[in-house]
Amino acid sequence: MANQKISSPWKGEDQGGGLLSANQTPTLTLPLLGGGKYKDRLRENADLSKTNWFRVGGKAQWLFKPEDANDLAAFLSQLPQEIPVTVLGVGSNIIVRDGGIGGVVVKLGRGFTGVKIVPRASCLVPGDEISRITNHEPRTTIHAGAACLDIHVAQFALDHSVTGLEFLSGIPGTVGGAVRMNAGAYDSDVSQVLIEAQVVLRDGTIKTFSNAELAFVYRNSGLPEGAIVTGAVFKTSPGDKDEIQKRMQDIATARGDTQPIRAQTGGSTFKNPDGHKAWELIEKSGCRGLTVGGAQVSEKHCNFLINTGSATAADLENLGEEVIRRVKEKTGIALEWEIKRIGKIA
Ligand SMILES: Cc1cc2nc3c(=O)[nH]c(=O)nc-3n(C[C@H](O)[C@H](O)[C@H](O)COP(=O)(O)OP(=O)(O)OC[C@H]3O[C@@H](n4cnc5c(N)ncnc54)[C@H](O)[C@@H]3O)c2cc1C
Repeated sequence: MANQKISSPWKGEDQGGGLLSANQTPTLTLPLLGGGKYKDRLRENADLSKTNWFRVGGKAQWLFKPEDANDLAAFLSQLPQEIPVTVLGVGSNIIVRDGGIGGVVVKLGRGFTGVKIVPRASCLVPGDEISRITNHEPRTTIHAGAACLDIHVAQFALDHSVTGLEFLSGIPGTVGGAVRMNAGAYDSDVSQVLIEAQVVLRDGTIKTFSNAELAFVYRNSGLPEGAIVTGAVFKTSPGDKDEIQKRMQDIATARGDTQPIRAQTGGSTFKNPDGHKAWELIEKSGCRGLTVGGAQVSEKHCNFLINTGSATAADLENLGEEVIRRVKEKTGIALEWEIKRIGKIA
């Protein structure tokens, strides 16, 4: 089999990214998979700084854009298991480190943006997957591809006068990122509305995970390491279009008033510790407006970090660590990162 050389399959912390000292750069070969049929969709040394909200980070050793779930599955089944795989949504909850991401970074594109509604009647066909899963549940479901933006799913639900997904309109990520992160807002989260998710495992196996199997916890899921969500099924119920629209407008207004939504940011930086709000602890510890290099704790919402224009990923991460240190010193509470930090420190 023909081989192409790639260097440094960096080992991962979080999802495939991770720390490796500068001198640890083992060489691996990436076989010409499928006789080279992926060549056009597999780019080497791809800049990732434009693929995330913070606008920081190094390069992907390889960036792969699959056409659809079968294409992704076939690719992964041939990719040597020792090569790390990292998937990115629209990067609204990550810091890509300055040293970039080793191995293969997967970015889902147009083939994963479909969204459709499956009305009650079609769910009543005997043996239908959805009827089985949603027995005794509202049976109007929305099926969305993993690269679909959350706001498009919410808008689609509004267009069809079904309720339950309004909270997604306030979350600037993709469906895949929302499932992985158990994204939520305004007393709802993905765990409350997801029926099941289609997933491609690291070895290329295609599998459907039920809500229970995803083992959701606050702002995270038990998705296996290296697993890539390709689609999701959400439950909804019939609603009043005007009321749904009003809720979405209220969410947009509340977000605009309280969050730096036009800044280069990554959403909530730290999880709310039990019984506390992270932003209150950060405020109390005197960190509002704190800066490290080009990174700043937002003046508007102090659980948001922002890139004021010149920040590196290291600035953002060091600022976050400094906030953790100060909050611990002042309150005794250890903040935990919500934002995923992915890749290699430069
Ligand atoms: C202004 C702003 C406001 C925000 N408000 C909220 C909020 O109210 N509530 C909230 O929960 N979040 C909020 N966020 C954070 C963020 O939007 C969510 O976490 C979102 O779900 C991340 O989706 P993404 O597509 O951007 O994922 P990314 O940031 O690209 O990735 C996040 C994680 O998900 C993984 N991932 C991405 N796609 C997939 C996939 N297809 N399969 C498996 N894993 C995947 C990545 O590997 C990574 O570990 C906000 C962010 C910003 C910038």
